[in-house]
Amino acid sequence: MKVTDYFENANGQTLVSFEVLPPLKGGSMAAIFDTLDPLMEFKPPFIDVTYHREDFVYKKMPSGYYEKIAIRKRPGTVGICAAIMHRYGVDAVPHLICGGFSKEETENALIDLNFLNINNVLALRGDARSFDGKFMPEPDGHEYALDLVKQVANMNEGKYLDDNIENGLKTNFCIGIAGYPEKHFEAPNLATDLEFTKAKVDAGARYIVTQMFFDNKYYFDFVKECRKAGINVPIVPGLKPLTKKYQTSSIPRHFYIDLPGDLSKEIMKAKNAEARTQVGIEWCTMQSKELKENGVPCLHYYTMGDAATIRKIAEGVF
Ligand code: FAD
Repeated sequence: MKVTDYFENANGQTLVSFEVLPPLKGGSMAAIFDTLDPLMEFKPPFIDVTYHREDFVYKKMPSGYYEKIAIRKRPGTVGICAAIMHRYGVDAVPHLICGGFSKEETENALIDLNFLNINNVLALRGDARSFDGKFMPEPDGHEYALDLVKQVANMNEGKYLDDNIENGLKTNFCIGIAGYPEKHFEAPNLATDLEFTKAKVDAGARYIVTQMFFDNKYYFDFVKECRKAGINVPIVPGLKPLTKKYQTSSIPRHFYIDLPGDLSKEIMKAKNAEARTQVGIEWCTMQSKELKENGVPCLHYYTMGDAATIRKIAEGVF
């Protein structure tokens, strides 16, 4: 079923969904199942699986020179989606990114997904490789998520890259996109960011999942600004508990978001790891409850492999 169908059929109830990361190369599906098994009792109708582009490192060779080596850190998104659907009978939403894909490779990936009866995708530009510093598309790839959304929407119309394909199979993808309550870090301002978000919705995106935030005001303001800008699709808040001291600087650095003073103070003050985890659980539960009371369509948790913490939050909310 499509993600948006779940929202429509929920009769105003807030749903729950989870996001998992593919294991590092050499890892097994057991890590994914270990994360999801304890969470399935909360009945998520869909599970997201992220996609991570290869990166590069320099390795010192016996000669003393450095060699640039490509690392495909987390392969397997499509296979993981199929395995999740098979094991739990829920929908899986693969993240589809522009980075590292030519348009034809994207088309082929979409054909595979369609054959597997995976009918939802979250269409993203993808992060820059640490090696590049800024996002670099493939020579024949998409520069922005907007172009990826257009490609998926075209396939839903039976339009493939090769004009000679007549009466091509029409795929049936429900397209989700990312949204940034605190603005995407490259956008000059929120209004401009929302113009591009609206362009993605006009091109066929049917719902938005937000970047994590730790102050619900950002989410509520973002929804208001989206509605003012004519963006009327469901906006799903993405949530992550902050449970570690180093995250008080790594999260703002990596995700370009603010942490409320009360939260960072409590985390710094906590006596040990257990106390910090408890602070994170309580904060995220408080955020979740307020969002739920305000009728959000779904609470989407970034699990980062930490099932125990997410489970405690879900127990407090659902
Ligand atoms: P875009 O919509 O392309 O926007 C990127 C920037 O360009 C923005 O500043 C925007 O304002 C601007 N822009 C957009 N269109 C245009 C245009 N036509 N002309 C000029 N400027 C434009 N990354 C991964 O690598 N893998 C994942 O699995 C993944 N999952 C994610 C899930 C969620 C819910 C979120 C919020 C993010 C995720 N990301 C993931 C990170 C995401 O890929 C990065 O934040 C990336 O930098 C931007 O992606 P986007 O789809 O928002 O890009």
